[in-house]
Amino acid sequence: MDYQNFFKTALDDLRSQGNYRVFANLERHCGAFPNATARGMETADVTIWCSNDYLGMGQHPSVLAAMHEAIDRCGAGAGGTRNISGTTHDHVLLEAELADLHGKEDALLFTSGYVSNWAALGTLGSRIPDCVILSDALNHASMIEGIRHSRAERLVWKHNDLVDLEAKLAALPLERPKLIAFESVYSMDGDIAPIREICDLADKYNAMTYLDEVHAVGLYGPRGGGIAEREGLMDRITVIEGTLGKAFGVVGGYISASTELCDFVRSFASGFIFTTALPPAVAAGAAASIRHLKNSNAEREMHQAKVAEVREKLSAVGIPHADNPSHIIPVMVGDPHKCKFISDKLLEEFGIYIQPINYPTVPKGTERLRITPSPVHSANDIDRLVGALEDLWGQCQLARMPLAAQ
Ligand code: PMP
Repeated sequence: MDYQNFFKTALDDLRSQGNYRVFANLERHCGAFPNATARGMETADVTIWCSNDYLGMGQHPSVLAAMHEAIDRCGAGAGGTRNISGTTHDHVLLEAELADLHGKEDALLFTSGYVSNWAALGTLGSRIPDCVILSDALNHASMIEGIRHSRAERLVWKHNDLVDLEAKLAALPLERPKLIAFESVYSMDGDIAPIREICDLADKYNAMTYLDEVHAVGLYGPRGGGIAEREGLMDRITVIEGTLGKAFGVVGGYISASTELCDFVRSFASGFIFTTALPPAVAAGAAASIRHLKNSNAEREMHQAKVAEVREKLSAVGIPHADNPSHIIPVMVGDPHKCKFISDKLLEEFGIYIQPINYPTVPKGTERLRITPSPVHSANDIDRLVGALEDLWGQCQLARMPLAAQ
């Protein structure tokens, strides 16, 4: 086989479909979020509009101070897996902070949210005898991979569809172990699961619940515990999974659950056991971020206000965007080439950075720009964004929202 030619052809195919990914080479500047410098481009100053550091906590003084302090106190790396010398006091404190955030007995850290889903679902699905996992059709790749890795039977239920979920549950023997896996805020559409009703079905059919709150922790609930906290449902969820890399602004992932369940995953999950622990400074920074957001609503309130302002201004000029109840604003383009064209032009001509979201991240024909406002985008930033989109919408001859829908 001509290996190099094989790689090149596969990449050329991606390019011709408009799905080849190009990364902007960005230099972030502490204290200047959401502004950055793009290297190797004419328009050097850019405003980031697609960051998952939703609240800018990655530059918050308390997070930075905690990380500096921890580096000075105990150095750079953890020095081992959690089992072999990698567990430090910072990891232990962070797990306690997370358990408290979700009102659970315990929590378990992983190196990312992806790994938490992969390892926890993989372990529960493979180790619980005859377990069947009922997975929402729009679950994140990390959940799908974890479920596949478990080799448990997987039943995919229609997205957020309680009737379909119930039909699938009812067809299974009551005594058979079951796990319902779903998200609270869905990352690409920004819609929210009917968590209470799913918990009711779980009770009725004797199932456990596994809730990915990656796009909700830090952002919703009086202490940033997520949608389940906001709706008073944390005690009804068996496993809450989250990330430290988005609203908390650092990196890492976790599950929070009963002592026994966390201990079980800790004891059997290869994705936990056989990998170097997060650096202690990362754990210290994440703990500082969580503590700050437990005690302060200011960031959450400002965030929601900015999201509302962007939505209003997009509607005023008829730029079509999904009407959902979260902070994620998908601006629908529906064509991979146009989506990439708009994204390129936004960066090159307007200094606005929004990555195109194309297949396979979203289904073909639903290509979009995923806008994530932060508390610190200014009114001027918002006006520039909306003006640039209006201009490019015209250039691409894309349809506007009908006036009646505005
Ligand atoms: N779950 C969902 C729903 C996600 O969107 C993501 C990341 N985009 C993850 C899990 C993985 O989290 P992390 O980025 O911390 O690996």
